[in-house]
Amino acid sequence: MLNFTVGPVQSNEEVLQIGAQSAPYFRTPEFSEIMLENERLMNKFAGAPAGSRTVFITGSGTASMEAAVMNLLDGDDRALVINGGSFGGRFCKLCEIHGIPYTPIQLEAGHALCAADLAPYDSSDEQHDTTTVETGSASGSDGRYTALLVNIHETSTGVLYDIDLISDFCRRNGLFLIVDAISAFLTDPIDMAESGIDVMITGSQKALAVPPGVSVMVLGPRALERTERIDSRCMYLDLKDALKNGERGQTPFTPAVTTLLQINARLRDIEAHGGPESEIRRVHELAEDFRSRITDLPFKLFSERPSNAVTSLYTEDISAKEIFTALKDEYGIWICPNGGDLAERVFRVGHIGNLKTEDNETLVDALRDYLHKRGF
Ligand SMILES: *Cc1c(COP(=O)(O)O)cnc(C)c1O
Repeated sequence: MLNFTVGPVQSNEEVLQIGAQSAPYFRTPEFSEIMLENERLMNKFAGAPAGSRTVFITGSGTASMEAAVMNLLDGDDRALVINGGSFGGRFCKLCEIHGIPYTPIQLEAGHALCAADLAPYDSSDEQHDTTTVETGSASGSDGRYTALLVNIHETSTGVLYDIDLISDFCRRNGLFLIVDAISAFLTDPIDMAESGIDVMITGSQKALAVPPGVSVMVLGPRALERTERIDSRCMYLDLKDALKNGERGQTPFTPAVTTLLQINARLRDIEAHGGPESEIRRVHELAEDFRSRITDLPFKLFSERPSNAVTSLYTEDISAKEIFTALKDEYGIWICPNGGDLAERVFRVGHIGNLKTEDNETLVDALRDYLHKRGF
């Protein structure tokens, strides 16, 4: 099978070889060294400010989203959540479950965030003079917000939000900024120090391109300070414990050892080949190549502001679900179907993982053949 989904994605040969070995015992100085290197490279690739820490959570990306909400926010916070799709909805649900007061900033699927969407929640003195904004509609008209949560690439729709817009807004309003960059890390530029990001989250099965099972949180100084102050009511996702163990390159519980070795191989490989910038360029070129090949096909770009990681396509006349199934069953290719209201109209093609332009060619040939057979 050729895999164009957004995770799990195809791994390179080195990563596959590591996966073929038995997991080594991990309470050793040798494994600790690898973990400390993982932390160092993650801090570096995320552009984390001095004094930042990285923790590796055994669990998929959502585990780190939940760890962030539980360990870094509490009932005294007032959070804004950018909600433009199913991952934004997940942050809302987490705030609800853990009793964090929050206001969703509801965006229509496929639409990019703009200044006018944020303006009603701006309580800074230097409010931007964008469009006219009706005040009083926001539930946060009195009492200031304290935090903002965003999935910087809303993978469900393929929209990459404007980090500069969000960053400026958070700085003006003094908001603690939690960024789920699970599918954006290594595919679009992200720099914690430059953008004032307090927490960045990613996961093993996206652009890190190793099997699922580990998620990663890079915590800046303000996030570390919050872990001291806030008591999470959870043993497994307790960041204080993870940070303490991490000081010596260890984890509180048995981690996904093999996946962490695979992450190490990938981080070292990226470091040896020009760092995140060149990895991002590679993904960008793959995405551009794919988009240039399909301009005459009966699909429209669904995202107003596409990421490099994914091309989400809208189909008016053909069922997106049927395209997914036909490619899977008749051509040996996985693309990503959509759920919910978009299931029939939108499908997504990922550009992450071990893919080449020849693979784009194979996919586009399959799409053309499929369309031809159905009389399009
Ligand atoms: C993949 C992804 C997640 C995490 O999903 P898991 O299934 O828990 O790994 C979260 N947010 C975004 C934006 C994602 O792309």
